[in-house]
Amino acid sequence: MLKTTAVLVVLMAISSCSRNEPQTPMKPSMQTSIPTPRFDGARAFADLKAQTDFGPRTPLSTGHRACLSFLVAELEKSAETVVSQNFTEKGYNNESLLLTNVFASFNTHTSQRVLLLAHWDTRPHADQDPLESNRSKPILGANDGASGVAVLLELARLMKQMPPSIGVDVLLVDGEDYGKSSDLNYYFLGAKYFARTMPRTYKPLFAILLDMIGDADLRIPMEQNSMKYAPGVVSLVWSAAQELGVTQFAAVPGEQIEDDHLALNEAGIPTIDLIDFQYPYWHTIQDTPDKCSPESLEAVGRVLVHVIYTKAGK
Ligand SMILES: [Zn+2]
Repeated sequence: MLKTTAVLVVLMAISSCSRNEPQTPMKPSMQTSIPTPRFDGARAFADLKAQTDFGPRTPLSTGHRACLSFLVAELEKSAETVVSQNFTEKGYNNESLLLTNVFASFNTHTSQRVLLLAHWDTRPHADQDPLESNRSKPILGANDGASGVAVLLELARLMKQMPPSIGVDVLLVDGEDYGKSSDLNYYFLGAKYFARTMPRTYKPLFAILLDMIGDADLRIPMEQNSMKYAPGVVSLVWSAAQELGVTQFAAVPGEQIEDDHLALNEAGIPTIDLIDFQYPYWHTIQDTPDKCSPESLEAVGRVLVHVIYTKAGK
C-alpha cells in the first residue's frame, strides 16, 4: 500500500474513545447477547509463521505457489465453498505473472453478507530498507501480508465451529504489493481484478480489509479513505472495539492510504482498511515474525468476531 501525501483532514466527528478513558460499561442488551466464539491469537500467530516459513510470497516464486496451496487447503477445512480465481497480469519485464485470488464462503444460503479481505502476496523489493544493498531483496512480509491472512484463517476456523447468522466471504487477494514505489498501475492487482469481474449481483453490506495489523506495538487509527468512502463501517467497527475495550483501535483519524479497499469502494462495496501504518519495518527485510505478536492479532480478531456475530446487519 501507499501513503498519500494529502493534508490530513478530519472528515467526521466520531464519539471520543481515547486510550486513557475508562471503558464504557456494556449496555444491558449487550450483556444478554448472542454467544460468540473465542478468537485465539496464538493459533492465528501460528498461521502467520506458517506463511513466513514459505519464505517470500512474491509472484512467480516457489514460496508464492507453496503458500497458495497451504491457504486453499486451510480454507477448505472451514469454508462451505472455496474458489480460486486465477488470472495473469504483465510484469515489469513483460513476463506473465500468474496470480490467484482465493474466495471462501461461509453461510452461503444467506444473502445478507459481509466481505473480509487481506492480501497474501509479499513485496518483491525491500525498497524502504535502510541498507541500499537490501533494497533489491524480497521482504518476508510477516506483518505486510501474513498478519491479515492469519486473522482471517483463524476466523474461518471459528465460523466453521460456530456459524454466524450472517453470511461471510473471505477474500485473499494476490498482487497487492508488486508495484514499484508510487506506480499505482502495478499495485492492488488482485483487488482490482476481483472488483472488475465480480457478479453484479454480489452486494455485501460492507467489506473490511486487514493490512499490517500484526505489529507488536499495534495502534489502528481511522484510515482517511475509509472515513471518506465508508464512514458508517468505520463507526460500526470502532464502536465494536470500544464495547470490548480493545484499546489498539484509536478513534482518531490516521493516514490516507492507497490500498486494496479503493477498488472495492469504486465498485460500490463500502470498504474500510484496518491498517497500522506506523511500522518501522515497512517494506524492509526486517518485516519478520518477531516484530508481530499474538496479542495484536487477537485484538483485531476479537473486534471482527464482535462485528460479525453481534453487530453486522442488525
Ligand atoms: Zn506493502
